Amino acid sequence: MLARQKSWGKTDMKYYAQEALLAEGWTADVTITIADGKVTAITPGKEAGAVELNGPLVPGMTNLHSHAFQKAFAGLTEYRANPEDSFWSWRDSMYRLLPQLTPDDMQIIARYLYIEMLRSGYTSVVEFHYLHHQPDGQHYDDAAATSCAVIDAARTVGLATTHCPVFYSYANFGEKPAAGAQKAFFHTPEQFVQLLDKLHQQYADDSSVKLGIAPHSLRAVSQAQLNELVPWWQQHEAQGPFHIHIAEQMKEVNECVDFYGARPVEWLYDQVDVNERWCLVHATHLSDQEVKTMALSKAIAGICATTEANLGDGVFRGVDYLSYGGRWGIGSDSHISVNAFEELRLYEYGQRYTHQKRNLLCDEQRPHVGDYLWTEAVAGGAQVANRGQGSIAVGEDANWVVLDRDVAELSAVAKESLLDAAIFAANENLVRDVMVNGTWRIENKHHAEWEQAQEDYRQMLKRLAANA
Ligand SMILES: [Zn+2]
Repeated sequence: MLARQKSWGKTDMKYYAQEALLAEGWTADVTITIADGKVTAITPGKEAGAVELNGPLVPGMTNLHSHAFQKAFAGLTEYRANPEDSFWSWRDSMYRLLPQLTPDDMQIIARYLYIEMLRSGYTSVVEFHYLHHQPDGQHYDDAAATSCAVIDAARTVGLATTHCPVFYSYANFGEKPAAGAQKAFFHTPEQFVQLLDKLHQQYADDSSVKLGIAPHSLRAVSQAQLNELVPWWQQHEAQGPFHIHIAEQMKEVNECVDFYGARPVEWLYDQVDVNERWCLVHATHLSDQEVKTMALSKAIAGICATTEANLGDGVFRGVDYLSYGGRWGIGSDSHISVNAFEELRLYEYGQRYTHQKRNLLCDEQRPHVGDYLWTEAVAGGAQVANRGQGSIAVGEDANWVVLDRDVAELSAVAKESLLDAAIFAANENLVRDVMVNGTWRIENKHHAEWEQAQEDYRQMLKRLAANA
């Protein structure tokens, strides 16, 4: 196991930004004071002793949906194995990888992946963690071994994490028993509660680690289980979020209609109180009424644009959802891409393909698409990671990204156009420095553990390839 991070953001510092995207919008010439990892004051001008930042400051992004282990599988299924290749054949291939992965491997993957996230502007991750057990379903000696492996990887590299253990009981609607690889995901309700209690105790004194829960999907959890699990978690953890895969593929939408007589979002809202603590991941296939219901509930739509493109899922109805004020954030899910800017670009481009218009994801207050995309995704991600508003404001965590104005595409634009250029025009890494809870983790595009993490990851991939 990796060494634990000993101190977390105990800096007390003043920073000066020539340009900063604050909660109220782009601002010039401000000093921001932080203590114990949080912003304590924002004042105009440059205060004495303030350290000048190396470029424009924007709030750090939450990656609201990650399956860390799938990183090791990215790029390995981009060839036609049969004429009907789809999400489901991809899933079968992914299941075949699972028996090779130990908790130590999962930690090596997560450490590499989480540094990649930091380098691309993410300051926290929500880990939707479902690979809990050995391939035959036997628990490890420590039933929390794989959870601790990925949580400790995040702590070691300095990425804030909201760990959501997945509750997974069934292979499909109608309580079909979990079979094959799915045995490694399975918990009884009692085992699941024990796992959460253990994680709660283990990380109680570390504010970089928060807990949520993830009923995997409507196909993997029964109606009775869902109706017990949700009120239990609401009482157990006052602000703890719920994450669920909801409507990624038409096959599961149709099976839900066949079994329950209702579409997934429609049925979920009939069963439980879906509110701002919920993240509905891959709400790809929605009826008009479901778009409206979801938006008005203030739940967050978890949009994973690069994965949803890669798996042939479909395009989220972003323009319709925005017309009701719907809230959302971004995740990299299968990690076919780990790049917040690319996720946002593809989300907007999906809408342009669909509507044959330009500049669709923005509003009156934020006519710049880059500003709208970045600030909405930051706010939505923070909400379902249980990390405040996510903005640069007094009382918020100091989770910051400093952009690189030396990148040519950013060098001459007004501050209001910086994120437009960053998301749509720049092709090189433009994240210069990254702070998480008051501690710099990326400095001048470098993370202190990057070389070792890369080497360990390369060795592990070679072993997996040799065993394939
Ligand atoms: Zn997922």
